[in-house]
Amino acid sequence: NFFVITMNSVELIEILSKKINKNAVVTEISKDRDPFKVLISTIISARTKDEVTEEVSKRLFNVVKNVDDLLKIDEEELSKLIYPAGFYKNKAKNLKKLAKILKENYNGKVPDSLEDLLKLPGVGRKTANLVITLAFDKDGICVDTHVHRICNRWGIVDTETPEETEFELRKKLPKKYWKIINNLLVVFGREICSPKPKCDKCFEEIRLKCPYYKKIKV
Ligand code: SF4
Repeated sequence: NFFVITMNSVELIEILSKKINKNAVVTEISKDRDPFKVLISTIISARTKDEVTEEVSKRLFNVVKNVDDLLKIDEEELSKLIYPAGFYKNKAKNLKKLAKILKENYNGKVPDSLEDLLKLPGVGRKTANLVITLAFDKDGICVDTHVHRICNRWGIVDTETPEETEFELRKKLPKKYWKIINNLLVVFGREICSPKPKCDKCFEEIRLKCPYYKKIKV
């Protein structure tokens, strides 16, 4: 049974990778791959629209380019710079704490391990995985709501939370797919397999194999 599940996930991901442009979600920051910028913009992105995250990050990184700049900037000024990101005041507070920890414990650098990243304020598993994969090119699986929803629809996992999905995928998904699954499913999840799925727009090869489609069609 385990084998069948793995085969399906690989098959679906393979089909998808031929069909969609996963670079559609590549931003200036993800191209840049600077660990500091990847970390900070991912923290800002929580509960914030992608366009807002991009606009705010650009504005912020014109002023705050590294940990020392983040240490120096006043919290009030910082929260103005990252407005209108969701929970901007809270995030500004966390970013100030983060700068202090990075300076004191990590020599002003962003750590490159999942364990160390997870100790930082405002950093959950999604952010930590994104930083190690994008900025340090290490193996990780960044599970956001799109990855979580679609993997459950496809029956690759049967989980309640994105964290559980990540742990299951670590067991079930061959490593070569770890880094690409996020970009692929984010694009697919925004355009087609959205919370209310547009199955009529889905690729036929995927629809034919999709257990969720079979379920909702009945
Ligand atoms: Fe999602 Fe529907 Fe496509 Fe299945 S058929 S992957 S539920 S859009």
